[in-house]
Amino acid sequence: MTRLREELEAADDRRRFGTGWLSGTAALVLAVIGLAAVLCLRYPDVLTVPDARAFYHVGYIRAALQLALIAGFLLGIVSISLRENKALGFAAIAIILVATILGGSRATARFDVDADVYFGLDWFLLNVLFTGMIFIPLERIFYLREQPVFRFEWREDLFYFFVSSMFVQVLTYLSLAPSMAVLQHTKWEGFRAAVGSQPLPLQFLEIMFLTDFVQYWLHRGFHRSSWLWKFHAVHHSAQRMDWAAGARMHFIEIVVLRGFTVVPMYVMGFTPTAMYAYIFFVYLFSTFVHANLRWKFGRWSAWFVTPRFHHWHHGIEREAIDVNFAVHFPVLDRMFGTYYLPPDEKWPEGYGIGGHPVPKGYWRQMLYPFRGK
Ligand SMILES: [Zn+2]
Ligand SMILES: [Zn+2]
Repeated sequence: MTRLREELEAADDRRRFGTGWLSGTAALVLAVIGLAAVLCLRYPDVLTVPDARAFYHVGYIRAALQLALIAGFLLGIVSISLRENKALGFAAIAIILVATILGGSRATARFDVDADVYFGLDWFLLNVLFTGMIFIPLERIFYLREQPVFRFEWREDLFYFFVSSMFVQVLTYLSLAPSMAVLQHTKWEGFRAAVGSQPLPLQFLEIMFLTDFVQYWLHRGFHRSSWLWKFHAVHHSAQRMDWAAGARMHFIEIVVLRGFTVVPMYVMGFTPTAMYAYIFFVYLFSTFVHANLRWKFGRWSAWFVTPRFHHWHHGIEREAIDVNFAVHFPVLDRMFGTYYLPPDEKWPEGYGIGGHPVPKGYWRQMLYPFRGK
């Protein structure tokens, strides 16, 4: 494992075209995705999200999987023949063999259980493939800081991605439960019907404002209270910013944030289409504001949150402490006196918390708020 990691994080000159790094890395990524997809085909009841199953076209998935396994195998061979260190290539081929033994693209469901509990392995694959395919190329071309894809602590952030996708059921349940309770005790059917009958774009905008307002104060609270800060400090412990950095968030903070933003949407009667559209948008948007992109957006940056605005929220310098809490509209920070965006298109010098108090690794970070000083 360590050898694989060293290979993935190899220095610039050992990653150049022709060194077998690109083919080896591509082979390994395809192999891991392939194996995960085979596992989803074998154990759909426990490894896939029931609501998502209805949308899958299994025929296309099998064809894509077949292609991925073949391409991964061939790329693995290319890497082995080009590269001195064979770890990447051999690991990829070994994983592809395991995937093939487990049925490959023809894998069928192994047991028929009526599982009440499921993990979102398919959700994780879709998340990483979708956001990765959008943001990795953009960050290669329009990067703000020159850093490799497998940058400092990439494994930690990918693991955060993994956990919050796998436990999607627990997360959804915990954040929806309070809404359901509130819903049972409120009787403003007329108001709810009026909200739900507005045009979709209007509902979308209202949700954006409403959740940003709630989220602003919640976020500020997480910075203000020393106990809550320990949860949120995990998010601020990222020392490199890119598309994966936003995933670093304490499980409890995700539940609280989602709970508090979903409750108003639910209770006020917005239609499910408007809510899902917003959830999809905010997911992409929060990936975007953490991304390693140098786009400036000129005048727009005063009105809409941009990567530079949120990068300042993560900045390590003094001026960056407790500023820029908004997710969509910087006007909230201006109204409440926490706006900071220096002129001259300046970016923070670095990211993280001074002295780096948060321990390394997912599990230690999970326990961090519960430990004494
Ligand atoms: Zn923060
Ligand atoms: Zn952030």
